[in-house]
Amino acid sequence: MRACPSFVLAFVLALLALLAAPSIAPSIAMAQPLIVIDAGHGGSDPGAVGCSLEEANVVLDVSTRLRTELERAGIRVALTRDVDEFVGLSARAAFANSMSADGFVSVHSNANSGTPATGTETWIANSAGARSLELATLLQAQMVASWGLRDRGVKRADFVVVRDTTMPAALTELAFTNNCATDATRLGSPTDRQAMAEAQARAILEWLGVMPGMNGTLRGVVFEDQGVGTMDLSVRLPGAMVRIVETGDTATGDSPDAAWLFDLPAGTYTVEASAPGHTTASRTCDVTSGGTTWCSIGLFPTSLPVPDASVPPMPDAFVVVEDEDAGTVTPRPDAASLESPDAGVVARPNAGDCACRASTRRGGSAWMLVVGGLVIARVLRRRRAIGLAVATSATLAVMVSSCTGAESTQAPLVTDEAVPEPIVVRVVEGPPIRIVSERELLLTTSDGTALTAPIISPDGRTLLLATPDFAALHAWHDGALTTICETQHCGHEPRFFGAGLVATRTPEQSASAIPGDAYTLDGQPSTTRLGAHGAMAFVEDEDTVRVRIDGQTRTLRAHDDRFVRAELSPDRRFVMIWGLTSGVSLHRLADDRVFALGVVGDPHFDPSGRALVFDRTTDEGHTLLTGDVFLAELPSSGESREITVRPLFTSERLETHASLSRIDERGHAHVAIERDGAIVIAEIALSAD
Ligand SMILES: [Zn+2]
Repeated sequence: MRACPSFVLAFVLALLALLAAPSIAPSIAMAQPLIVIDAGHGGSDPGAVGCSLEEANVVLDVSTRLRTELERAGIRVALTRDVDEFVGLSARAAFANSMSADGFVSVHSNANSGTPATGTETWIANSAGARSLELATLLQAQMVASWGLRDRGVKRADFVVVRDTTMPAALTELAFTNNCATDATRLGSPTDRQAMAEAQARAILEWLGVMPGMNGTLRGVVFEDQGVGTMDLSVRLPGAMVRIVETGDTATGDSPDAAWLFDLPAGTYTVEASAPGHTTASRTCDVTSGGTTWCSIGLFPTSLPVPDASVPPMPDAFVVVEDEDAGTVTPRPDAASLESPDAGVVARPNAGDCACRASTRRGGSAWMLVVGGLVIARVLRRRRAIGLAVATSATLAVMVSSCTGAESTQAPLVTDEAVPEPIVVRVVEGPPIRIVSERELLLTTSDGTALTAPIISPDGRTLLLATPDFAALHAWHDGALTTICETQHCGHEPRFFGAGLVATRTPEQSASAIPGDAYTLDGQPSTTRLGAHGAMAFVEDEDTVRVRIDGQTRTLRAHDDRFVRAELSPDRRFVMIWGLTSGVSLHRLADDRVFALGVVGDPHFDPSGRALVFDRTTDEGHTLLTGDVFLAELPSSGESREITVRPLFTSERLETHASLSRIDERGHAHVAIERDGAIVIAEIALSAD
C-alpha cells in the first residue's frame, strides 16, 4: 500500500509544471532494485502433479516466502501472481518488462515421465548474457546447498518467461514433483519451502550486491507542518514521541531540534509520531542495509482543519511532489545528491520515498492523497507570497521531473470512473483475411544472431528487429541491416513516429513509458521527443491507466487486474489495455465502451488506428505450443458495426509478434510476424476486392 499520509506536498508553480511536463510518463529511476518473482502455472494450469502435490501451489508458496525475504532486505518485489490464477506466459514477461525490473526469477518444480528423476536445476535463455548466467549460477548453488538434492546444473532453453524478458532472468526447477521418495518430501514441507525461499533470497541479494544482515539508519525530526510539509521544518516539536510500528521501538525527540534515530535491519517500517496539541501522523520509509534513510514527520496542530478527502478536485493544474528529505543516502554512481537548504540534510530524489515507489499492491488511498494534495495546493496558492528560495525551487524541480510518473497528474482530474461492463469480442466465423503475398526471411546480425520481434513501419517498407536479449535494435530496409541503438531494453517495443524516426526506451524507462530516445533510420540520435506530441496513455502503479490528450488527463481503472501495458490508438479513439489475467481490452473513449479480446498477447495498432493485431497462444507452462495471429477491426462509435476479430495467420506453425502497416484506401496493408523463428512479411487484403 502506498503510504505517505499527510506528507504529500502539492505545489502550483508554473515553473515546476513546465519542468514536469516532458516527464509525465512513468520513466522513474528507482532507488531500490526491483525483482519480479514469477510463480509458475496457476489457475487452470496446475503444472506438474504428483505425490499429492501440485506445482502451482508449491511454487506460489515458495514465491511469496521469497518475496517476504527480499522485502525484509529492502528489495522491492513484484509477483506475477500472488493467488491461484491463470497468467499467460507472454503477459508474465510483459509485466516484468513494463516495470523495468532489475531481475526476474521464475519458480517451478519439475516432473518427468518414466522412473522419477531427482535434483535441482536452473534455466536461462539460449541467448542469455553474463548477468543472467551469474544469477542462475548463484541460485543453483544456494538451492543445492539448501536442499542437498542432485545438482543438475544451469541449462539453456528458450522458455518464454526467460526469453521474452528484457532484464537478466532465470527459471528455477526446485525439485521433481513426481519423486515421492526424496524430492516431493522437500516440496511438500513448509519448513523446507521456507529454507528454499531463504536460499534463493541469499542468491539474489548476492547477485544484487546487497549485504544482508547489515543494519541501516532511519532518522528524522518531528516538526509542526506549516502547510508545506518538509519544505519548512522550522517549527520543531521537542518531546514528540516517535514509534516504529513494526518493532514497537520508541524514541523521544528530546533535543530542541526534535531529532530521532533508529538502527534497524533493512526493511520497510511505519514510523508514527505524536506530540501534545498535534495530530498523530505516520509514514512508511525503507531502510536498506548500510544506508541512511531520512523520514521526518510533520504534525498539524489540532486546531487547524486536516485536509479532507471530500473536497472536490480543483480545476487548475497542479503537481504533487514528495517530501524532500526522504532520500536514502546510499552511494550510487548515478545518484545526484542534493543539499536541502531547509532541512539541512542530504537528500536525493526518488530514493525510497513512497511517492516515487511503484507499489506492488493496489493503493486505494492514492486518491485521498491526491485530493489531500489539492487542498494543500489551494492553501499554497493563497500563500504564494511565501516565496521559495531559488535553491529550493531547483531542488524541487529535479524531484518533480524525476518523480512525476508516480503521483502527479494534470487537471482536470477524473477520479475513479464507473466500471463499464466489458463486451466480449469473439472471433467471427468464416475464412481468414486474404493473404495477397508473403515472403519468409531469416534475418541475422553479422555474427549470426537471429533477430526477433519485428515491428513494421507505417509504409510497410522497413522492419525494426531486436536482438534476442532486446539490448540492440536494428532496422531492415532495402535488404540491408542498420544498427539503431545498443542500450539495455532499447530493442523492446520500439515505435515509428514522425518522418523516418524511431523511438526507443532509455535504459531507465519502464516499457509503459513514452519512449525517451529517438533515432533516425540510419541510427543517428534525434532530439525529437515523442512525449511532447500531446497524446499518450500509460500504466501507473500497475492498476491505473492514465490517458493524456491535449493537456486533459483521464484515469481509467476498467478492470480488477494489474496492467502490463496501455496504449492510445493513433487516431486517439481507443485505449488498449493489457491486463495480466484479463488479457487485452479496448476502451472506446467516445462512448466508454470496453471490448474484451480475452487472454491474447503482443497487441499492436495499425498507424491509422483502424485495426489491432495480436496473437493467441497456448503453452504447457514453459514454452509455447501454438500461436495464431488475429486482427480486430475497430469501427467508430457512430457506426453500427461493433469490433470484429478475424483470423489472420492460423497455420500449424508458431505464429506470433504481429505488427501492421497503414491500411490503404483499398483496404490493403503489410503485416510482419514471427513464424517459427523466421520473419514473415505479408500483404493482406481486409476487404473483399
Ligand atoms: Zn513448471
